[in-house]
Amino acid sequence: MRFSNRISHMDTSALRNVLALTARPDIISFAGGLPAPEAFPVEDLRRAADKVLSARGPAALQYSASLGLSSLREKLARRHRAQGISCTADDILMVSGSQQGLDLAGKVFLEPGDAVLCENPTYLAALTAFRSYECQPLPVETDDEGMVLEDLERKLAAHPEAKLMYIIPTFQNPTGKTWSLERRKGVLALAERYGLPILEDNPYGDLRYEGEPVPTLKSMDTAGIVTYMGSFSKVLSPGLRLGWLIAAPALLEKYASAKECADLQTSTLSQMVADTYLEDNDLDANIRRISALYKKRRDLMLSCLERDLPAGASCTHPQGGLFLWVTLPEGIDTTALMPVMAARKVAYIPGVSFFAGRDVRCCLRLHYSNAAADQIVRGVETMCRVFRDTLAKG
Ligand code: PMP
Repeated sequence: MRFSNRISHMDTSALRNVLALTARPDIISFAGGLPAPEAFPVEDLRRAADKVLSARGPAALQYSASLGLSSLREKLARRHRAQGISCTADDILMVSGSQQGLDLAGKVFLEPGDAVLCENPTYLAALTAFRSYECQPLPVETDDEGMVLEDLERKLAAHPEAKLMYIIPTFQNPTGKTWSLERRKGVLALAERYGLPILEDNPYGDLRYEGEPVPTLKSMDTAGIVTYMGSFSKVLSPGLRLGWLIAAPALLEKYASAKECADLQTSTLSQMVADTYLEDNDLDANIRRISALYKKRRDLMLSCLERDLPAGASCTHPQGGLFLWVTLPEGIDTTALMPVMAARKVAYIPGVSFFAGRDVRCCLRLHYSNAAADQIVRGVETMCRVFRDTLAKG
Protein backbone atom coordinates (compact mmCIF):
# COMPACT_ATOMS: atom_id res chain seq x y z
CA MET A 1 0.00 0.00 0.00
CA ARG A 2 1.19 3.52 -0.68
CA PHE A 3 0.17 6.05 1.93
CA SER A 4 -0.06 9.82 1.83
CA ASN A 5 2.82 11.95 3.12
CA ARG A 6 0.27 13.43 5.48
CA ILE A 7 -0.24 10.25 7.49
CA SER A 8 3.44 10.04 8.38
CA HIS A 9 3.03 13.38 10.19
CA MET A 10 0.20 11.99 12.32
CA ASP A 11 2.29 9.79 14.59
CA THR A 12 0.42 9.84 17.90
CA SER A 13 1.84 6.51 19.09
CA ALA A 14 4.15 7.91 21.82
CA LEU A 15 1.29 9.60 23.59
CA ARG A 16 -1.05 6.66 22.95
CA ASN A 17 1.46 4.40 24.74
CA VAL A 18 1.65 6.72 27.75
CA LEU A 19 -2.14 6.92 27.92
CA ALA A 20 -2.52 3.14 27.56
CA LEU A 21 -0.16 2.72 30.47
CA THR A 22 -1.98 5.27 32.57
CA ALA A 23 -5.35 3.67 31.86
CA ARG A 24 -4.25 0.67 33.97
CA PRO A 25 -6.48 0.64 37.07
CA ASP A 26 -3.50 0.13 39.41
CA ILE A 27 -1.77 3.33 38.22
CA ILE A 28 -2.31 6.73 39.82
CA SER A 29 -2.50 8.83 36.71
CA PHE A 30 -1.79 12.54 36.53
CA ALA A 31 -1.29 12.07 32.78
CA GLY A 32 -4.46 12.12 30.64
CA GLY A 33 -6.62 15.22 30.52
CA LEU A 34 -9.88 13.57 31.56
CA PRO A 35 -12.40 15.54 33.61
CA ALA A 36 -13.40 13.92 36.92
CA PRO A 37 -16.30 11.47 36.40
CA GLU A 38 -18.14 13.09 39.34
CA ALA A 39 -18.04 16.36 37.37
CA PHE A 40 -20.61 15.04 34.89
CA PRO A 41 -24.24 15.97 35.62
CA VAL A 42 -25.37 12.47 34.62
CA GLU A 43 -28.95 12.70 35.92
CA ASP A 44 -29.60 16.11 34.33
CA LEU A 45 -28.23 14.88 31.00
CA ARG A 46 -30.29 11.68 31.25
CA ARG A 47 -33.44 13.77 31.75
CA ALA A 48 -32.47 15.98 28.80
CA ALA A 49 -31.82 12.93 26.57
CA ASP A 50 -35.16 11.34 27.59
CA LYS A 51 -37.00 14.54 26.86
CA VAL A 52 -35.35 14.96 23.45
CA LEU A 53 -36.02 11.38 22.38
CA SER A 54 -39.59 11.25 23.64
CA ALA A 55 -40.68 14.71 22.42
CA ARG A 56 -38.63 15.04 19.22
CA GLY A 57 -37.21 11.58 18.57
CA PRO A 58 -37.32 11.49 14.75
CA ALA A 59 -35.86 15.02 14.45
CA ALA A 60 -33.11 14.18 16.96
CA LEU A 61 -32.13 11.11 14.94
CA GLN A 62 -32.19 12.96 11.62
CA TYR A 63 -29.48 14.93 9.75
CA SER A 64 -29.60 18.65 10.51
CA ALA A 65 -28.07 22.00 9.45
CA SER A 66 -24.32 21.96 8.93
CA LEU A 67 -23.78 25.18 10.93
CA GLY A 68 -25.51 23.54 13.88
CA LEU A 69 -28.78 23.79 15.79
CA SER A 70 -29.89 27.43 15.77
CA SER A 71 -31.42 27.39 19.29
CA LEU A 72 -28.13 26.06 20.73
CA ARG A 73 -26.09 28.60 18.78
CA GLU A 74 -28.38 31.36 20.06
CA LYS A 75 -27.82 30.28 23.65
CA LEU A 76 -24.05 30.17 23.10
CA ALA A 77 -24.10 33.60 21.46
CA ARG A 78 -25.97 34.99 24.50
CA ARG A 79 -23.40 33.46 26.89
CA HIS A 80 -20.49 34.88 24.90
CA ARG A 81 -22.07 38.34 24.61
CA ALA A 82 -22.32 38.36 28.42
CA GLN A 83 -18.56 37.59 28.47
CA GLY A 84 -17.78 40.50 26.12
CA ILE A 85 -17.69 38.86 22.68
CA SER A 86 -19.91 40.69 20.25
CA CYS A 87 -21.62 37.90 18.28
CA THR A 88 -24.93 36.39 17.19
CA ALA A 89 -25.93 32.82 16.39
CA ASP A 90 -24.94 33.54 12.77
CA ASP A 91 -21.29 33.92 13.81
CA ILE A 92 -21.15 30.44 15.36
CA LEU A 93 -20.37 27.07 13.76
CA MET A 94 -20.89 23.94 15.87
CA VAL A 95 -18.05 21.42 15.56
CA SER A 96 -17.51 17.84 16.73
CA GLY A 97 -15.36 18.81 19.71
CA SER A 98 -12.89 21.68 19.55
CA GLN A 99 -10.33 19.16 18.32
CA GLN A 100 -12.24 19.26 15.04
CA GLY A 101 -11.89 23.06 15.10
CA LEU A 102 -8.10 22.61 15.06
CA ASP A 103 -8.36 20.31 12.07
CA LEU A 104 -10.71 22.70 10.26
CA ALA A 105 -8.29 25.58 10.86
CA GLY A 106 -5.65 23.39 9.20
CA LYS A 107 -7.95 22.75 6.23
CA VAL A 108 -8.82 26.44 5.90
CA PHE A 109 -5.36 27.98 6.31
CA LEU A 110 -2.51 25.54 5.84
CA GLU A 111 -0.49 24.38 2.89
CA PRO A 112 2.52 22.02 3.19
CA GLY A 113 5.49 23.97 4.50
CA ASP A 114 3.42 26.78 6.05
CA ALA A 115 4.39 28.12 9.47
CA VAL A 116 2.00 28.18 12.45
CA LEU A 117 3.07 30.36 15.36
CA CYS A 118 2.30 28.81 18.73
CA GLU A 119 3.24 29.00 22.37
CA ASN A 120 6.20 26.96 23.53
CA PRO A 121 5.11 24.64 25.18
CA THR A 122 1.61 24.17 23.76
CA TYR A 123 -1.23 21.64 23.46
CA LEU A 124 0.28 18.49 22.03
CA ALA A 125 -2.73 17.41 19.94
CA ALA A 126 -2.85 20.85 18.31
CA LEU A 127 0.74 20.37 17.15
CA THR A 128 -0.24 16.96 15.74
CA ALA A 129 -3.36 18.36 14.06
CA PHE A 130 -1.36 21.14 12.35
CA ARG A 131 1.52 18.80 11.47
CA SER A 132 -0.99 16.59 9.66
CA TYR A 133 -1.20 19.44 7.13
CA GLU A 134 2.58 19.12 6.72
CA CYS A 135 3.12 22.54 8.21
CA GLN A 136 5.85 23.75 10.53
CA PRO A 137 5.00 24.80 14.10
CA LEU A 138 6.94 28.01 14.79
CA PRO A 139 7.29 28.19 18.57
CA VAL A 140 7.30 31.58 20.30
CA GLU A 141 8.84 31.89 23.75
CA THR A 142 6.47 32.38 26.69
CA ASP A 143 6.87 33.58 30.25
CA ASP A 144 4.43 33.93 33.16
CA GLU A 145 2.45 36.63 31.32
CA GLY A 146 2.04 34.90 27.97
CA MET A 147 3.85 35.11 24.63
CA VAL A 148 7.01 37.20 24.81
CA LEU A 149 6.25 40.12 22.47
CA GLU A 150 9.86 40.71 21.43
CA ASP A 151 10.23 37.09 20.37
CA LEU A 152 6.87 37.17 18.57
CA GLU A 153 7.86 40.29 16.67
CA ARG A 154 11.22 38.78 15.76
CA LYS A 155 9.51 35.62 14.45
CA LEU A 156 6.87 37.59 12.55
CA ALA A 157 9.55 39.70 10.90
CA ALA A 158 11.61 36.63 10.00
CA HIS A 159 8.57 34.65 8.77
CA PRO A 160 6.15 37.08 7.11
CA GLU A 161 4.76 34.06 5.27
CA ALA A 162 3.37 32.57 8.56
CA LYS A 163 -0.26 31.63 8.03
CA LEU A 164 -1.77 31.26 11.50
CA MET A 165 -1.18 31.78 15.20
CA TYR A 166 -2.58 29.23 17.68
CA ILE A 167 -2.88 30.21 21.35
CA ILE A 168 -4.48 29.09 24.63
CA PRO A 169 -4.30 32.28 26.71
CA THR A 170 -6.37 31.10 29.71
CA PHE A 171 -5.38 28.17 31.99
CA GLN A 172 -3.14 26.95 29.25
CA ASN A 173 -2.61 23.31 28.41
CA PRO A 174 0.02 22.22 29.50
CA THR A 175 1.21 24.92 31.93
CA GLY A 176 -2.02 26.18 33.56
CA LYS A 177 -0.78 29.76 33.01
CA THR A 178 -3.01 32.71 32.06
CA TRP A 179 -1.86 35.62 29.90
CA SER A 180 -2.02 39.17 31.26
CA LEU A 181 -4.28 41.73 29.59
CA GLU A 182 -1.26 43.69 28.32
CA ARG A 183 0.16 40.65 26.53
CA ARG A 184 -3.21 39.89 24.98
CA LYS A 185 -3.43 43.43 23.64
CA GLY A 186 0.18 43.33 22.48
CA VAL A 187 -0.23 40.03 20.61
CA LEU A 188 -3.47 41.19 19.01
CA ALA A 189 -1.85 44.45 17.87
CA LEU A 190 1.14 42.61 16.35
CA ALA A 191 -1.07 40.04 14.62
CA GLU A 192 -3.19 42.86 13.19
CA ARG A 193 -0.08 44.67 11.96
CA TYR A 194 1.14 41.53 10.17
CA GLY A 195 -2.35 40.47 9.00
CA LEU A 196 -1.99 37.15 10.83
CA PRO A 197 -5.16 35.22 11.76
CA ILE A 198 -5.33 33.99 15.37
CA LEU A 199 -6.99 30.82 16.62
CA GLU A 200 -7.88 31.38 20.31
CA ASP A 201 -8.58 28.07 22.01
CA ASN A 202 -10.50 28.46 25.28
CA PRO A 203 -11.80 25.14 26.61
CA TYR A 204 -10.84 25.90 30.23
CA GLY A 205 -11.68 29.63 30.61
CA ASP A 206 -14.96 29.07 32.51
CA LEU A 207 -13.21 26.93 35.13
CA ARG A 208 -11.79 29.83 37.14
CA TYR A 209 -11.56 29.27 40.86
CA GLU A 210 -9.68 32.37 41.91
CA GLY A 211 -8.71 35.79 40.56
CA GLU A 212 -10.52 38.01 38.08
CA PRO A 213 -11.41 36.98 34.51
CA VAL A 214 -9.17 38.47 31.81
CA PRO A 215 -10.91 39.48 28.54
CA THR A 216 -10.52 37.06 25.64
CA LEU A 217 -8.64 38.24 22.56
CA LYS A 218 -11.85 37.71 20.60
CA SER A 219 -13.65 40.27 22.80
CA MET A 220 -11.04 42.87 21.74
CA ASP A 221 -10.87 41.82 18.08
CA THR A 222 -12.09 44.80 16.09
CA ALA A 223 -10.33 43.68 12.88
CA GLY A 224 -12.05 40.27 12.72
CA ILE A 225 -8.79 38.29 12.71
CA VAL A 226 -9.55 36.07 15.71
CA THR A 227 -11.36 32.72 15.52
CA TYR A 228 -12.56 31.79 18.99
CA MET A 229 -12.95 28.16 19.90
CA GLY A 230 -15.16 26.93 22.77
CA SER A 231 -16.08 23.45 24.02
CA PHE A 232 -18.56 21.69 26.30
CA SER A 233 -15.95 19.02 27.08
CA LYS A 234 -14.64 20.46 30.34
CA VAL A 235 -17.81 22.14 31.64
CA LEU A 236 -20.41 19.52 30.72
CA SER A 237 -19.12 16.33 29.05
CA PRO A 238 -16.45 15.43 26.48
CA GLY A 239 -18.58 12.44 25.41
CA LEU A 240 -21.07 14.81 23.79
CA ARG A 241 -18.26 15.85 21.38
CA LEU A 242 -19.51 19.41 21.09
CA GLY A 243 -17.40 22.47 20.42
CA TRP A 244 -17.93 25.68 18.47
CA LEU A 245 -16.10 28.31 16.46
CA ILE A 246 -16.89 32.02 16.46
CA ALA A 247 -15.52 33.94 13.49
CA ALA A 248 -16.26 36.84 11.14
CA PRO A 249 -18.85 35.90 8.44
CA ALA A 250 -16.48 35.42 5.45
CA LEU A 251 -14.13 33.27 7.54
CA LEU A 252 -16.95 31.27 9.14
CA GLU A 253 -18.14 30.45 5.64
CA LYS A 254 -14.75 28.84 4.90
CA TYR A 255 -14.84 26.82 8.14
CA ALA A 256 -18.39 25.71 7.27
CA SER A 257 -17.26 24.42 3.85
CA ALA A 258 -14.37 22.54 5.47
CA LYS A 259 -16.74 21.12 8.09
CA GLU A 260 -19.16 19.88 5.44
CA CYS A 261 -16.33 18.05 3.68
CA ALA A 262 -15.17 16.51 6.96
CA ASP A 263 -18.43 15.20 8.46
CA LEU A 264 -21.42 17.14 7.05
CA GLN A 265 -22.57 18.29 10.48
CA THR A 266 -22.19 17.86 14.22
CA SER A 267 -24.37 15.18 15.89
CA THR A 268 -28.00 16.33 15.95
CA LEU A 269 -28.72 14.19 19.01
CA SER A 270 -25.80 15.60 21.04
CA GLN A 271 -26.71 19.15 20.13
CA MET A 272 -30.35 18.65 21.09
CA VAL A 273 -29.39 17.07 24.41
CA ALA A 274 -27.03 19.96 25.20
CA ASP A 275 -29.64 22.51 24.11
CA THR A 276 -32.31 20.93 26.32
CA TYR A 277 -29.84 20.67 29.21
CA LEU A 278 -29.14 24.42 28.90
CA GLU A 279 -32.88 25.12 28.70
CA ASP A 280 -33.73 23.19 31.88
CA ASN A 281 -30.57 23.57 34.00
CA ASP A 282 -28.14 26.22 35.13
CA LEU A 283 -24.80 25.50 33.41
CA ASP A 284 -23.10 28.10 35.61
CA ALA A 285 -24.24 26.23 38.73
CA ASN A 286 -22.61 23.09 37.29
CA ILE A 287 -19.45 25.09 36.55
CA ARG A 288 -19.38 26.41 40.14
CA ARG A 289 -19.78 22.85 41.45
CA ILE A 290 -16.97 21.50 39.26
CA SER A 291 -14.70 24.44 40.02
CA ALA A 292 -15.11 23.88 43.77
CA LEU A 293 -14.11 20.23 43.30
CA TYR A 294 -11.09 21.07 41.11
CA LYS A 295 -9.95 23.88 43.40
CA LYS A 296 -9.76 21.44 46.32
CA ARG A 297 -7.68 19.04 44.22
CA ARG A 298 -5.40 21.80 42.97
CA ASP A 299 -4.84 23.06 46.52
CA LEU A 300 -4.05 19.58 47.73
CA MET A 301 -1.65 18.88 44.86
CA LEU A 302 0.11 22.22 45.36
CA SER A 303 0.57 21.62 49.07
CA CYS A 304 1.88 18.07 48.44
CA LEU A 305 4.31 19.40 45.80
CA GLU A 306 5.49 22.14 48.11
CA ARG A 307 6.28 19.53 50.73
CA ASP A 308 7.77 16.85 48.47
CA LEU A 309 9.46 18.44 45.43
CA PRO A 310 13.27 18.41 45.50
CA ALA A 311 15.15 21.66 46.18
CA GLY A 312 15.48 23.75 43.03
CA ALA A 313 12.17 22.56 41.54
CA SER A 314 9.17 24.81 40.95
CA CYS A 315 5.58 24.54 39.78
CA THR A 316 2.92 26.85 38.36
CA HIS A 317 -0.05 28.01 40.44
CA PRO A 318 -2.99 27.87 38.01
CA GLN A 319 -6.02 30.00 38.89
CA GLY A 320 -8.29 27.54 37.08
CA GLY A 321 -8.37 24.74 34.53
CA LEU A 322 -7.04 21.22 34.98
CA PHE A 323 -3.25 21.28 34.74
CA LEU A 324 -0.11 22.40 36.42
CA TRP A 325 3.46 22.34 35.22
CA VAL A 326 6.54 21.28 37.15
CA THR A 327 10.11 22.33 36.33
CA LEU A 328 12.79 20.18 37.95
CA PRO A 329 16.49 20.92 38.26
CA GLU A 330 18.47 20.38 35.03
CA GLY A 331 19.78 16.86 34.74
CA ILE A 332 16.50 15.11 35.45
CA ASP A 333 15.00 13.50 32.36
CA THR A 334 11.26 13.11 32.95
CA THR A 335 10.89 10.95 29.80
CA ALA A 336 13.63 8.53 30.83
CA LEU A 337 12.02 8.21 34.27
CA MET A 338 8.64 7.08 32.91
CA PRO A 339 9.36 3.31 33.27
CA VAL A 340 10.58 3.86 36.85
CA MET A 341 7.39 5.79 37.60
CA ALA A 342 5.27 3.08 35.97
CA ALA A 343 6.93 0.47 38.18
CA ARG A 344 6.00 2.64 41.19
CA LYS A 345 2.47 2.95 39.70
CA VAL A 346 2.34 6.66 39.04
CA ALA A 347 2.21 8.56 35.73
CA TYR A 348 2.50 12.06 34.28
CA ILE A 349 3.14 13.42 30.78
CA PRO A 350 6.81 14.28 30.18
CA GLY A 351 7.20 17.95 29.29
CA VAL A 352 9.25 17.40 26.13
CA SER A 353 6.12 16.29 24.25
CA PHE A 354 4.64 19.80 24.45
CA PHE A 355 7.58 21.71 23.00
CA ALA A 356 7.90 22.31 19.28
CA GLY A 357 11.54 22.14 18.33
CA ARG A 358 13.10 22.31 21.79
CA ASP A 359 14.45 19.39 23.75
CA VAL A 360 13.46 20.29 27.30
CA ARG A 361 13.76 17.22 29.47
CA CYS A 362 13.27 18.47 33.03
CA CYS A 363 9.55 19.41 32.92
CA LEU A 364 6.29 17.55 33.27
CA ARG A 365 2.56 18.17 33.14
CA LEU A 366 0.34 17.12 36.02
CA HIS A 367 -3.40 16.80 35.71
CA TYR A 368 -4.95 17.17 39.16
CA SER A 369 -8.67 16.98 38.43
CA ASN A 370 -9.12 13.27 37.83
CA ALA A 371 -7.48 11.80 40.95
CA ALA A 372 -9.05 11.38 44.40
CA ALA A 373 -7.47 13.08 47.42
CA ASP A 374 -5.64 10.00 48.74
CA GLN A 375 -4.27 9.26 45.25
CA ILE A 376 -2.95 12.82 44.95
CA VAL A 377 -1.14 12.52 48.29
CA ARG A 378 0.33 9.07 47.52
CA GLY A 379 1.06 9.81 43.87
CA VAL A 380 2.92 13.06 44.50
CA GLU A 381 4.88 11.51 47.37
CA THR A 382 5.98 8.53 45.23
CA MET A 383 6.81 10.64 42.20
CA CYS A 384 8.82 13.18 44.17
CA ARG A 385 10.73 10.45 46.00
CA VAL A 386 11.90 9.16 42.59
CA PHE A 387 12.99 12.69 41.60
CA ARG A 388 14.87 13.23 44.87
CA ASP A 389 16.57 9.82 44.68
CA THR A 390 17.57 10.44 41.05
CA LEU A 391 19.10 13.81 41.93
CA ALA A 392 20.88 12.32 44.96
CA LYS A 393 22.47 9.66 42.71
CA GLY A 394 23.62 12.48 40.41
N1 PMP B 1 -7.84 22.32 23.01
C1 PMP B 1 -7.21 22.08 24.17
C2 PMP B 1 -6.25 23.11 24.68
C3 PMP B 1 -7.45 20.90 24.87
O1 PMP B 1 -6.80 20.69 26.02
C4 PMP B 1 -8.36 19.96 24.34
C5 PMP B 1 -8.67 18.64 25.01
N2 PMP B 1 -7.99 18.27 26.08
C6 PMP B 1 -8.99 20.24 23.13
C7 PMP B 1 -8.72 21.44 22.48
C8 PMP B 1 -9.96 19.30 22.47
O2 PMP B 1 -11.12 19.19 23.24
P1 PMP B 1 -12.52 18.72 22.69
O3 PMP B 1 -12.33 18.22 21.30
O4 PMP B 1 -12.98 17.66 23.64
O5 PMP B 1 -13.41 19.93 22.73
